[in-house]
Amino acid sequence: MKKVLLFLVFCLPLSYVVAQSNTFTEQDTLRGSITPERAWWDLNYYHLDIEVKPDEKFISGTNTVRYQVLEEKEVLQLDLQPPMKIEKVTQDGQELSVESKGNAHFIRLVKPQKKGDFNELTVHYSGKPKEAVRAPWDGGFSWKKDNNGKHFVATSCQELGASVWWPNKDHMYDEVDSMAISVEVPKDLMNISNGRLKKVEEHEHTKTYHWFVKNPINNYGVNVNIGDYVYFGEKYEGEKGVLDLDYYVLRDHLEKAKVHFTDAPKMMQAFEHWFGPYPFYEDSFKLVEVPYLGMEHQSSVTYGNEYKKGYLGHDLSQTGWGLKFDFIIVHEGGHEWFANNITYKDIADMWIHEGFTAYSENLFLDYHYGKEASAAYVIGTRANIKNDIPMIGVYDVNKKGSGDMYYKGANILHTLRHLIEDDEKWRSILRGLNSEFYHRTVTTQEIENYLSEHTEKDLSAFFNQYLRSTRIPVLEYSVTGDQLKYRYTNIVEDFDMPIRIYVNEKEKWLFPGKDWVTEDLAGDATDFTFDENFYIETKKVQ
Ligand SMILES: [Zn+2]
Repeated sequence: MKKVLLFLVFCLPLSYVVAQSNTFTEQDTLRGSITPERAWWDLNYYHLDIEVKPDEKFISGTNTVRYQVLEEKEVLQLDLQPPMKIEKVTQDGQELSVESKGNAHFIRLVKPQKKGDFNELTVHYSGKPKEAVRAPWDGGFSWKKDNNGKHFVATSCQELGASVWWPNKDHMYDEVDSMAISVEVPKDLMNISNGRLKKVEEHEHTKTYHWFVKNPINNYGVNVNIGDYVYFGEKYEGEKGVLDLDYYVLRDHLEKAKVHFTDAPKMMQAFEHWFGPYPFYEDSFKLVEVPYLGMEHQSSVTYGNEYKKGYLGHDLSQTGWGLKFDFIIVHEGGHEWFANNITYKDIADMWIHEGFTAYSENLFLDYHYGKEASAAYVIGTRANIKNDIPMIGVYDVNKKGSGDMYYKGANILHTLRHLIEDDEKWRSILRGLNSEFYHRTVTTQEIENYLSEHTEKDLSAFFNQYLRSTRIPVLEYSVTGDQLKYRYTNIVEDFDMPIRIYVNEKEKWLFPGKDWVTEDLAGDATDFTFDENFYIETKKVQ
């Protein structure tokens, strides 16, 4: 998801504060944990086949779920949020009984479920889905009109869950391996979903758009976007060959989109360099205009940044560098690697998506404008960090951590880059993450382990400090003659990150810990500066 932060800064709603309380319900557990009724089967394929009636704000259809039996059980959990209703569930033509508990529906299977077998069931459902209050943060269906009075409809559902509009296994640990999405819409409109458009069927008053996603996709990545779209596109010569960059924009915006979307190939160039090949060549890369800011929907990134540079015309870093690119194209584009390729198993680890992706913004700058621009940008975004609650949320109850996951996340990765002091190695680590965890769901621990192993540093205290506490290390120091005395305070156990200083413009490493260390600066103790690439605070004491 994009940028909760700015909204927190500009217009923190009370509901957000209340939502921070840590009391959880049975519904939270059913939604957020790998329940026994989820654990025994492995998702293989969905065919979501629906009709959307914008005039009535109504959807209806089926989702066919194919799964492999891992353990022989009888009750299977799927999720669908009221007011959407399950009409019936069938397997091999036989209607099954369903016991519902809020959003969770427990389907009693009749056919013996034999280990290793692939079985299918079909859920028939309909209703008027929750309307988005402020997409994409408080999502659902956005039912809008364009300037010509045509319907302009889109879905967004991270955190809330895809089960707000279609029945599925609404937990992130198990991604479907491939998916067909068929959407019937009024004849004068188009539907753009994920993957490739395979076929358009014409009916008397409607058309059905059949899309197919060849790669694993997470639930919240699946989307429908309906509008009076026009298409343009280009071929991008990428690391894995020719990649289709396809753009769908409102009819009236075609000319300005053609100019503005030149940031898309620039994004692709920078991120293939830093992160490795775009992870979904088979499915193409699309930008699809929507009536809200934007979202990282896999292979159909949604765009609503008003064709402006920065974040709706604002620079999140206050340095000027944030106005060199369209924030949504770059940020949501970055999520193709960190969110869609490498996906959190549990939303408590959402910093993996947002930290690396906020960090990608300055790697974009690094690629096109150089290292100084990149550093100025990420350091500039520090002003947005609150250190209110830890970046890691609460596991198994669908609870994310602090909005600091964006810019604190970016700054700790920037710090790590400087700690490693070898940009080629750092790049190989970022690319390595994307190949090691290619098309996989992961935990923070797996990412931490990978980084520790490949940086050849034990980073456990580093991550405990920055991800699991809200404390920022304070380097206390004093100068007496040529002697620099220093230590860390406000740290977790064993935190001893080295930092760089410049003494008379020459670099020097300090190795602080919780105890005072004295260093002889050989005559230049009055002329030294801390390298601000390291995210710490400094405090002069007597
Ligand atoms: Zn994001």
